[in-house]
Amino acid sequence: QQRIVAAEMSNEDSGLEYNLRPRYLHEYIGQEKIKKLLTIYIDAAKARHEPLDHVLLYGPPGLGKTTLANVIANEMGVGIRITSGPAIERAGDLAAILTNIRQNDILFIDEIHRLNRAVEEILYPAMEDFVLDIVIGKGPSARSIRIDLPRFTLIGATTRTGLLTSPLRDRFGVVSRLDYYNEDDLYKIVKRSAGILGVSIDDDAAYEIARRSRGTPRIANRLLKRIRDFAQVKSDGNITQEITRAALEMLDIDKLGLDEIDRLLLKTIALKFGGGPVGLETLAASIGEDTGTIEEVYEPYLLQIGFIKRTPRGRTITPLALEHLKIAL
Ligand code: ADP
Repeated sequence: QQRIVAAEMSNEDSGLEYNLRPRYLHEYIGQEKIKKLLTIYIDAAKARHEPLDHVLLYGPPGLGKTTLANVIANEMGVGIRITSGPAIERAGDLAAILTNIRQNDILFIDEIHRLNRAVEEILYPAMEDFVLDIVIGKGPSARSIRIDLPRFTLIGATTRTGLLTSPLRDRFGVVSRLDYYNEDDLYKIVKRSAGILGVSIDDDAAYEIARRSRGTPRIANRLLKRIRDFAQVKSDGNITQEITRAALEMLDIDKLGLDEIDRLLLKTIALKFGGGPVGLETLAASIGEDTGTIEEVYEPYLLQIGFIKRTPRGRTITPLALEHLKIAL
């Protein structure tokens, strides 16, 4: 079953995200530090008629990395080619993309940490010297040829920079971390999206959604869409705080945006393991999830709001979380 508060993109998001995606920096809400820096770099590159330096964007899913890559392309007035680490299987795939790119264009590689070794090695000289070294033929008759590429900008996105090999990381001139959004920014995103969708929403309802979106614009937009359906069916279509609260209760999303699985994870640490520390594998086995999903999907937000801690001996629950769950240990 699809989790409503999952930060990853789901099928239901795709059409919606296309419409709601900011196109220029002035529409891109929050992330002020990154926007300020990018504005300077973009203006400077444009004045020199050069491509922008290679940019690495990192941070949890749904915070606007793909959106920002598109925004940069629009601001630079250049084309963008979008692909992802797992989609580029062989060195030849990347060579085909790079030889088809135009001068100053942007190549966006999502999940860039999932590029395989062979592909990554083609990427180094391409990023550094805008050349492609390819080997033709096999065995004794094999020879290497060098092809000049147009100067381009690589924008890479990943959830954590630690996942990248250091030679790859070192080839990015700009490395920017996207942070979870605060309530005010999410409120603005919800209002903006409601405007685009043509639904009326009360301010306190927009704040209610903002508070329960786990700091993530993608989740805010998804909740808004679900609540819009509720408002249409159960009332006159206007999104009020009352409708919002009722809808979120039916969707089992609590005041902080935690869902059933988050609560199960927290309760398991608290009640089954006396508050921890409990090892990741043990925890995974007890709630029937795999360790990767727990680490990448559930834990980041719980860590962010100070509900769990990672210690060398495993995960522990914090007093704050116990208070939220109304559990006394
Ligand atoms: P990521 O690539 O980090 O997973 P996306 O760029 O796909 O995230 O963003 C998910 C959705 O959230 C976008 O479609 C967009 O509608 C919305 N969004 C992201 N960042 C912003 C922002 N700063 N302002 C407004 N909407 C945003």
